Amino acid sequence: MRPAALDPLFAPLTSLDGIGPKTVRPFARLLGRETPRVVDLLFHMPSGFVDRRARPTIAEAREGEDVTLEVRVDGHQAPPPGSRAPHRTFVSDATGDMVVVHFKADSARMAHMLPEGATRWLCGRIERYDGLRQMVHPDRVLDAAGLARLPPVEQVYPLVEGLHAGHLRRALASALGRVPDLAEWLPSVSPGSALPSFREALERLHRPQTPADAQPTGMPWRRLALDELLAHQVSLALARARDIKAGGRETSGDGRIAARLRAALPFALTGAQEQALAAIAADLAAPTRMLRLMQGDVGSGKTVVALLAAAVALEAGRQAAIMAPTEILARQHLETIAPLAQAAGIEVVLLTGREKGRARADILAGLAEGRTGLVVGTHALIQDDVAFRDLALAVVDEQHRFGVEQRLALARKGAAVDMLVMTATPIPRTLVLTLFGDMEASELREKPPGRQEIDTRAVPLDRLDEVVEAVGRAMAAGARAYWICPLVEETDTSDLAAATERFEALKARFGERVDLVHGRMSGTAKDAAMARFAAGECQLLVATTVVEVGVNVPEATIMVIEHAERFGLAQLHQLRGRVGRGDKPSTCLLLYRAPLGETAKARLAILRESQDGFRIAEEDLRLRGEGDVLGTRQSGMPGFRVARLDVHSADMETARRLAATLVRQDPGLATPVADRLRTLLYLHERDAAMRLLGAG
Ligand code: ADP
Ligand code: MG
Repeated sequence: MRPAALDPLFAPLTSLDGIGPKTVRPFARLLGRETPRVVDLLFHMPSGFVDRRARPTIAEAREGEDVTLEVRVDGHQAPPPGSRAPHRTFVSDATGDMVVVHFKADSARMAHMLPEGATRWLCGRIERYDGLRQMVHPDRVLDAAGLARLPPVEQVYPLVEGLHAGHLRRALASALGRVPDLAEWLPSVSPGSALPSFREALERLHRPQTPADAQPTGMPWRRLALDELLAHQVSLALARARDIKAGGRETSGDGRIAARLRAALPFALTGAQEQALAAIAADLAAPTRMLRLMQGDVGSGKTVVALLAAAVALEAGRQAAIMAPTEILARQHLETIAPLAQAAGIEVVLLTGREKGRARADILAGLAEGRTGLVVGTHALIQDDVAFRDLALAVVDEQHRFGVEQRLALARKGAAVDMLVMTATPIPRTLVLTLFGDMEASELREKPPGRQEIDTRAVPLDRLDEVVEAVGRAMAAGARAYWICPLVEETDTSDLAAATERFEALKARFGERVDLVHGRMSGTAKDAAMARFAAGECQLLVATTVVEVGVNVPEATIMVIEHAERFGLAQLHQLRGRVGRGDKPSTCLLLYRAPLGETAKARLAILRESQDGFRIAEEDLRLRGEGDVLGTRQSGMPGFRVARLDVHSADMETARRLAATLVRQDPGLATPVADRLRTLLYLHERDAAMRLLGAG
């Protein structure tokens, strides 16, 4: 149970003054939750800040710099009625003069806000236009009383359409009023230490008095990041303590199944695949438990390595399971594996939420009795009634889609199960330790031979017609194409409507050769659409991001991504990786809505330049959090809201060591100190780790 002290933080955002069922909607989009809570807002981190303390004269103010100017209002020039010209206000100080420009402004209101002859303070940026200094739409126009209330430093937050900065600030102020004083869980924090308390950290971060307090490198942000990293590390350490307690077993094979599988492969393994496989085989043969991460870009050939690893377990007379996050993916793995398995004379079965009744009972019996050696499936694999005779190896694909608890639930299906987790989101080496704890890692950096570069282009949405024509021409020549529409969450009905609308339009144009898949469709309907696309009966597959990971249709050569600016870099790279899998040249068109923000521009540029997932992941980290989030949670490095992996690397190491010490001293989290740690775990929603304690 969550400690009651945290209740105010987990109350819905609508419990704050001024936020009702309607006004909460843009917050829901901003925070990526259907029902956002106070804590989600408090952990919505700023993307930059403005230092309001700079008070130059007009002559001293440099272009493009944020300044607060003290000026005298000299006069107004209202635009003639019906004109689109802006309202101009002339202001000056002893050193020079300047024009204040307001477009679509009510001139009477302007005269009231900037009375002639009065002194006013203007916050904003100066630019030059026609040789004159001007300030377009000042952030603030203040009188003396307003100036007295002006915060010295103002945070700037990522916003979404329909949410104004002022609205967000008011909500934040009200949220800060709800933050309770919590008993300190960080041993290093005491009165007078450099790190502030949790409550003080939030207060100083969101209402900074100095630039130092406003930045990710400052103490308030670092304190909050350390909390988040510590919560993560403690949950990992608890999981690991369990793993170690369980001990390991030696599993080695005689190579006979592997040899038959290799003979059935239409290609030779790459050097990187051989290396990864050798490392896994060595882990399996060792008397300790394996916990290995295999990372490899999309299309780098992880599935085959997983299959050959499974062969070792089978040769030893034991069993292996491969768990994927979605049904589509599980099915895809089965399709890759089944023909090879058949050639090698081994049985493989599929277990997803859709196997029911008699069929499911048969599968479960086969696994329980050990007749079936290899199973591929989804979360269905970790249901209570699934049992193995002797599970040796658990492979978890796209592991970041699963929680620690789910990974462990699969491991619990056997005695001392060896674990291989795979990810197609390449994670810079420095971060593996942080994200996964003490985990070994193998990388498949080398791509299978014969892969083509993907011609990647960014195209503004207003050239949609041309794109449709080009896709049409390619389809006439037999090409197969994906058309991706953004869907942040499967519950976001407006996005879903947009995808359906695009599908209808394309269908009107191309007829029956167009299909649609999205996450709200039934499994059967999804499969049918995917199967038609794989078979070439459908040539244009309109899809929401359900196709993001792992889908393999080598004949597909065109990827159109609509609203590419709404996706994170890692996600775009994943999506693009759906094409360029065969021997034909492929194209990826990134359709964006102009104008692009700086970060979005940089993101698309990197994609055009590079196809190296590792480089892209690093750039992604660098760009993350630097501005326009555009309503979409950045994907890639999941699970961290506060900690910035590029800034807080030293804190990561601190958190890791701290967690190891805490868990070693008190593995049951039984002492009073542990009570506070529990609060922290709940605060950062790592409470799955709690249940591990119970499951001891
Ligand atoms: P990943 O899961 O890493 O994205 P897959 O395992 O789905 O990649 O492999 C992508 C494709 O490459 C599959 O069609 C697979 O059969 C093929 N493939 C794997 N290894 C090799 C190799 N060494 N040489 C050629 N093709 C390969
Ligand atoms: Mg894969």
